[in-house]
Amino acid sequence: MKNLFLTNSPDSKKEYEDIMNQTLKAVTEAFCDDKAYSGPTPQELQKLIKQNTLLPEEGLGWQKTLELTKEKILPNLLRTSSTDYMPHLHSPATLESIASEVIISTFNQSMDSWDQAPVATELEVEVINHLCKMYGYRKGSDGVFTSGGSQSNQTAIILARDWFISKIMGWDVKKYGLPENFRKLRMYTSEISHFSMEKSAHILGLGYESVVKVPVDKNKRMDFNAFEKLVNEDIAKGNIPFLAVATIGTTDFGSIDPLAKMAELCKKHNMWLHADAAYGSGVILSTKYAERVKDLYLADSITVDFHKMFLLPISCSAVLIKEKEDFNALTIHADYLNREEDEEDGYTNLVDKSLQTTRRFDALKVWMSFLARGKKGWSDIITSCMENAQYLYSQIKANPVFEAVTEPEISSVVFRHTAGDEVNKKVRRKLLHQHGIVIGQTVSDENVCLKFTLLNPLMTHQKLDELIALIQKLAAE
Ligand SMILES: *Cc1c(COP(=O)(O)O)cnc(C)c1O
Repeated sequence: MKNLFLTNSPDSKKEYEDIMNQTLKAVTEAFCDDKAYSGPTPQELQKLIKQNTLLPEEGLGWQKTLELTKEKILPNLLRTSSTDYMPHLHSPATLESIASEVIISTFNQSMDSWDQAPVATELEVEVINHLCKMYGYRKGSDGVFTSGGSQSNQTAIILARDWFISKIMGWDVKKYGLPENFRKLRMYTSEISHFSMEKSAHILGLGYESVVKVPVDKNKRMDFNAFEKLVNEDIAKGNIPFLAVATIGTTDFGSIDPLAKMAELCKKHNMWLHADAAYGSGVILSTKYAERVKDLYLADSITVDFHKMFLLPISCSAVLIKEKEDFNALTIHADYLNREEDEEDGYTNLVDKSLQTTRRFDALKVWMSFLARGKKGWSDIITSCMENAQYLYSQIKANPVFEAVTEPEISSVVFRHTAGDEVNKKVRRKLLHQHGIVIGQTVSDENVCLKFTLLNPLMTHQKLDELIALIQKLAAE
């Protein structure tokens, strides 16, 4: 390892290629079986990775470091591209998107200002415009890439809070902070929405108490009547509803809240409506099922996660907003970075829209993978994941030892073996450590349930049948 960077010298180019090739070889060789997990327990892993020091007096050099990585780390990494991996909304990464990552980290653009990322900035703007159109937003909409759904949600909640407090309450929140009666502000979201709602409420100085948890119906969708009732009760009590969050694809069940009805109520009461479509955003690409998310354009902001259904490497997410101006809440000028004259001269500094300053060029992954696979390729991928979930659900329904929680709206199936909580827990652990199969576990109506999150289009019906048979066998042991 003589060269520090890839430069114009033939010597450094050669070394860059060698290092990359050796790494690629090590990675492909690590896929020596089709298990998702090699099986070690936490204690075994801690022992395995222990080094005398992480910062030796003399560096080990590239070869030795790669050997160590090959020996200790690569065999034990989860293979998210295995069809035996399905616990969370954590997807395998498509080949071309991994290639994008090489480009992203080699060139290492930072998205905060145009002079740090000229073509990358223009490309992010182009991708955002395409996404806005794809979800049905009109001209005047905008968006930005973020580190993930949690940050997308937090960004949307900040924009909602600032819009409401400045436009509706007439208070300059950017300058003076929260208004005196801030404890009356209320946001509504279903009881099974993502925890980033409460976390954001806390970070924004509103506190958990500002988050009203609306019950869900038997399909795990927000109960609209309960939502309306809670809003009306709050108004009667003198509280101030400012935001509702519809989950378009709940994390566990993939259930979809009644967005259109929520939009009407939000309009009536001057509330911002955010759609947390971290999961469900991918459904738009399925020609067959896109109508399930066709109302997304009604929301004032949308969270889109590309590292879930879109099968892109972590991290990759965006928040889209209906009215560009609302990003003003996040704009603050720094003389060294985003000069006001830049904008007048056509230089876009994306830091104006972001919670982050230094930021990854994740938009490239979307650009390359959309172009590479096109509408047809993506539609097949998303449709097959959704149809696998339908198939699994039908098999579970037909088998008397299992109970399914809801009919899948996207690609997650939550169910339980009727033998009870302990049996379901035992089955999941055994699958993980003895079979290298990773499935999810959650709770519904106080029962421990098993969860298959089907984001891998290579999953087959036959494989699903085998998994169900194995679960049945393990439960009986
Ligand atoms: C995954 C998820 C999030 C969080 O997204 P990250 O990318 O993990 O930060 C938020 N909302 C929902 C509904 C999710 O499923």
